[in-house]
Amino acid sequence: MTRFKPNAINALGPRRRVGWLLAIPLIALLLVAVYFVFFANRSSGRWAYYTALRLSPETFARYTLQPGSLCGDAPFAFPTTGAIFGLWDQSYRLGHHHSGIDIFPNTAPGETPIFAAYPGYLNRLPDWRSTVIIRVPDDPLNPGRQIWVYYTHMADREGNSFISTKFLPGTEEVFVEAGTLLGYQGNYSGDAANPTGLHLHVSIVKDDGEGRFLNELDIDNTYDPSPYFGLPLNNRANPDGFPICSTELGLADWAAALD
Ligand SMILES: [Zn+2]
Repeated sequence: MTRFKPNAINALGPRRRVGWLLAIPLIALLLVAVYFVFFANRSSGRWAYYTALRLSPETFARYTLQPGSLCGDAPFAFPTTGAIFGLWDQSYRLGHHHSGIDIFPNTAPGETPIFAAYPGYLNRLPDWRSTVIIRVPDDPLNPGRQIWVYYTHMADREGNSFISTKFLPGTEEVFVEAGTLLGYQGNYSGDAANPTGLHLHVSIVKDDGEGRFLNELDIDNTYDPSPYFGLPLNNRANPDGFPICSTELGLADWAAALD
């Protein structure tokens, strides 16, 4: 006896089957359209500006913030020299949500210093080549809550560390003041063949409630750093905005400067 096991399409009959076969490319087309409308356009404008700006050091300098500068009454000082092009919750690829902010200098790996944005207790896991995390027991924006400030990419593409020798692998709970030199900007990604663009990634990581930091790669385990740095454009409502301390330079001004 032959047993015929109908699948979902066979069970529908020939006419509906043709309908379903037509629907598949249409759905695929729709997904591609949705991708371009809602994802690709969302942040491509800012990256296009970034690419163009790098060709003009004078213009780039206008969007560069300086270490130690405070925006308004923000509690965190700017940690390095550079312009912010990567925002919290920005998508770098489909389905990705960036967990911090990315600050780009116009220099070379190992040249641009990074300083603690806020005082706290520095930790570096034994296998961390490019990262330190600073425990802040009392969140200045939410007193009583503990947060962790994460700084990464402080190594060259091969993984040679640019972190200050004061903070060797395995460092635990060393108190640092705001302004303490942590290391230098690098392009370490974990894969020497595909280094990241030179930048500092800084994020605010949630505590697990028992004194440990959560996995920084998941955006749900982080807070938007923008209010800590006083950068109001860094939010979901302004996906094409770019955060700068001064409101004098807007996006239109930036575009005009490139003409
Ligand atoms: Zn980043």
